[in-house]
Amino acid sequence: MDKSKRKAVIAGNWKMNKGPAEAAALLDELKPLVAGAGCDVVVCPPYVDLAVAIEKTKGTNIGVGAQNVHFEQSGAYTGEVAASMLTELGCGYAIVGHSERRQYFGETDETVNLRTKAAIAAGLTAIVCVGENLTQREQGVTMDLVRMQVKVALLGVEAASLAKIIVAYEPVWAIGTGRTATADQAEEVCAAIRAQLAELYGQPAADSVTIQYGGSMNAANAAELLGKPNVDGGLIGGASLKPADFAAIVKAASV
Ligand code: PEP
Repeated sequence: MDKSKRKAVIAGNWKMNKGPAEAAALLDELKPLVAGAGCDVVVCPPYVDLAVAIEKTKGTNIGVGAQNVHFEQSGAYTGEVAASMLTELGCGYAIVGHSERRQYFGETDETVNLRTKAAIAAGLTAIVCVGENLTQREQGVTMDLVRMQVKVALLGVEAASLAKIIVAYEPVWAIGTGRTATADQAEEVCAAIRAQLAELYGQPAADSVTIQYGGSMNAANAAELLGKPNVDGGLIGGASLKPADFAAIVKAASV
């Protein structure tokens, strides 16, 4: 597998952590640590930090993304943020369908599809999260489930828009638990995701899509996970809040 056909992307999902002042301090610490990275580096702080993150990262190699995006352009959707608002601010990315949104906020494969299309229509790169929970893994339905999640998330997404899609494989049982998928488990599912993309768009297009692994990736296990042929990057939760740890993962992706 020729990984040079696609970008290595390490993205930090800060979740509901850090207010604007702490975000500014974290980015000041992070910037010199990842300057000159050999991969794309993205931070996804809470909405209220986006303006300060964009200001702080101007002229650097760090991109900024939101943790969610609504699918309508405007209107009576209290508490939601439209894709065009994020691009106007200077965001380049939006996480879509994170398992915490599926678990706590009623996100479904259908709304993930709507959000994905809205994000890319506005010019954002959508980091589309898929992954099985522990019961589903034990039931042996991981491959079917993840392939279906990918298929539904990308309904109506043209091949020409694939450059704006990153797929993040995040086994729910590995998120925030300290329990990481083995590199072989991550590779097996990431390869199945690529096979699904190939079925939808053809092999050359599938080979160009960045597929991340996410789930307790850290400075110690990143190199092994990222060494797998279909694991092109990482979506990092806990470790993205520690600049030195996040920078070590960026370094592992930069070889
Ligand atoms: C995540 O929230 O996307 C994630 C992977 O979290 P953690 O790295 O903390 O498991």
